[in-house]
Amino acid sequence: MSEQLQNKRHTLAHLLGAAVLQNYPHAKLTLGPAIDNGFYYDFDFSGGPTLGDDGLKDVQKSMKKILNGWTGFSHREVSVEEARELYQDNPYKLELVNEINERGEKITLYTVGTFTDLCRGGHCEHPNKDLDTDAFKLDKVAGAYWRGNEKNPMLSRVYGLAFDTKDELVAYQTQIEEAKKRDHRKLGKEMDLFTFSDLVGAGLPLWTPKGTIVRHLLDEYMWQLRSKHDYQRVTIPHITKKDLYEKSGHWEKFGDELFRIKTREGKEYALKPMNCPHHTQIFDRHPHSYRDMPQRYAETTMVYRDEQSGELGGLTRVLSITQDDSHVFCRQTQVKEEFFRIWDIVDTFYTTFGFAEMRVRLSFHDPSDMEKYLGTPEIWQSAENALREIAAERKANFFEATGEAAMYGPKLDFMAKDSLGREHQVATIQLDMNLPERFDLTCINEKGEKERVVMIHCAIMGSIERFTAVMTEHLGGNFPLWLAPEQVKIIPVNDAHLPYADTVYQTLKAAGLRVTLDSDNESMGKKIRAAKTDRLPYFIVLGDQEVADQTVTLEKRDGTKQVVSITDLTTLLVTEVAEKRN
Ligand SMILES: [Zn+2]
Ligand SMILES: [Zn+2]
Repeated sequence: MSEQLQNKRHTLAHLLGAAVLQNYPHAKLTLGPAIDNGFYYDFDFSGGPTLGDDGLKDVQKSMKKILNGWTGFSHREVSVEEARELYQDNPYKLELVNEINERGEKITLYTVGTFTDLCRGGHCEHPNKDLDTDAFKLDKVAGAYWRGNEKNPMLSRVYGLAFDTKDELVAYQTQIEEAKKRDHRKLGKEMDLFTFSDLVGAGLPLWTPKGTIVRHLLDEYMWQLRSKHDYQRVTIPHITKKDLYEKSGHWEKFGDELFRIKTREGKEYALKPMNCPHHTQIFDRHPHSYRDMPQRYAETTMVYRDEQSGELGGLTRVLSITQDDSHVFCRQTQVKEEFFRIWDIVDTFYTTFGFAEMRVRLSFHDPSDMEKYLGTPEIWQSAENALREIAAERKANFFEATGEAAMYGPKLDFMAKDSLGREHQVATIQLDMNLPERFDLTCINEKGEKERVVMIHCAIMGSIERFTAVMTEHLGGNFPLWLAPEQVKIIPVNDAHLPYADTVYQTLKAAGLRVTLDSDNESMGKKIRAAKTDRLPYFIVLGDQEVADQTVTLEKRDGTKQVVSITDLTTLLVTEVAEKRN
């Protein structure tokens, strides 16, 4: 955010503090910063009535009134004694005063109108002129612990939205409303894609028949793209002896996230949190000549990670994660080409869904925290330099992020913007020189010597769960024809039209389309409404006219209609599926 907007939001936090004090004189002010979409202030209301959502309107009115008298800020430095005296009844501000004092910084008080607050500065010069009273709005009240620590008292956090103009505020509110409507947890239920069971547990989605169709289609498409680049499918068990993860380093570094299993004979096993260690053992089954390199293995399979239950919700954080995983074992000299191949797949895949421009994050290790990682600083530097070169050569829109690497190597993370302008981390490609070292993976080079190989890890969808969530919200549930679990619904007007409806149904079914015939005794209006809430790409209503003409009236999700013959109908739909139009 610009400094100017930051100052406005910060000033509004003070204004909120002043208005709350006017309406709730017993309130104790604590901290109130500017945030991404506005500002907040944390209050302790324990000495009297508490401000709830229903009180926000009055506080907002007071803010607007008070603002009239806010012509400018003045400030003065005070001694620690004076500040302590001033805040003797406010333990929160007292704590802040003492901290500022310990840091050896100056203690400053800012006054505007009749309101004074402990502050470091950074305000609008003339609040009454600079702030547009239509460009901010109090949003909600939520609980928050003092300084985010659950051992501290619970405070009331009052949130406000604030932008430069009213239009920006309205646009933001519209986007939030739209995001709520598109929430994948809501749409997933309406579209009957997945469900959860208390008996199975939180974070363990159960995929319904419709959801499973979607998963398979996504995976099939991914495989189609991969097979062009000569990937081979492999299959591994979901558990392993502890020994594999001791060698890979996962036993130690994955820590509490690893689901551990003890057998009846007392042997230690684990559920796989990643597939890489298993895949190394497939590569290592026999020696490889340089002529056989690279080896490209792909597998769509679940991995399991023990997340804390408080962090689970919908498909974005789950314990059972389906990765469209792949591992390329190649020579150093082949890294660039392999990255470019994967990059092509990423581009094709995300373009198919209409995601706008992608940004690339080079996720590097944090040199000050080497305990988190496998391998030496030299290996890391060389891997990170290789990624820098690749991103530059590809002319990508990239930036670097320290501390975001995987434990075994740096990553190239793709960030896609969805139709609501939100950015999501999607695909990831990782360069790994550490696991090949640990498992002593080599190929025999031209000179007949053993040569260390490198591994490239890649999941294009990231996980099917996360991708389904992101894609569902991006499309608002309006899946393209090729991906819709139910593609066409045929609705005969009454029983007399059933035989003709059945002919159309059989023809489309034979052409491989996912079609249903709705012969229930419901009213037409109700059936059509159901087809719309199910977000069906197409439905067909058949009546006397259609039977007489041997045609169908095809209605698209957006309401457009066309009358076609049965043969043309089949061609039209099959082509749309084959071309994966969105
Ligand atoms: Zn301030
Ligand atoms: Zn991997």
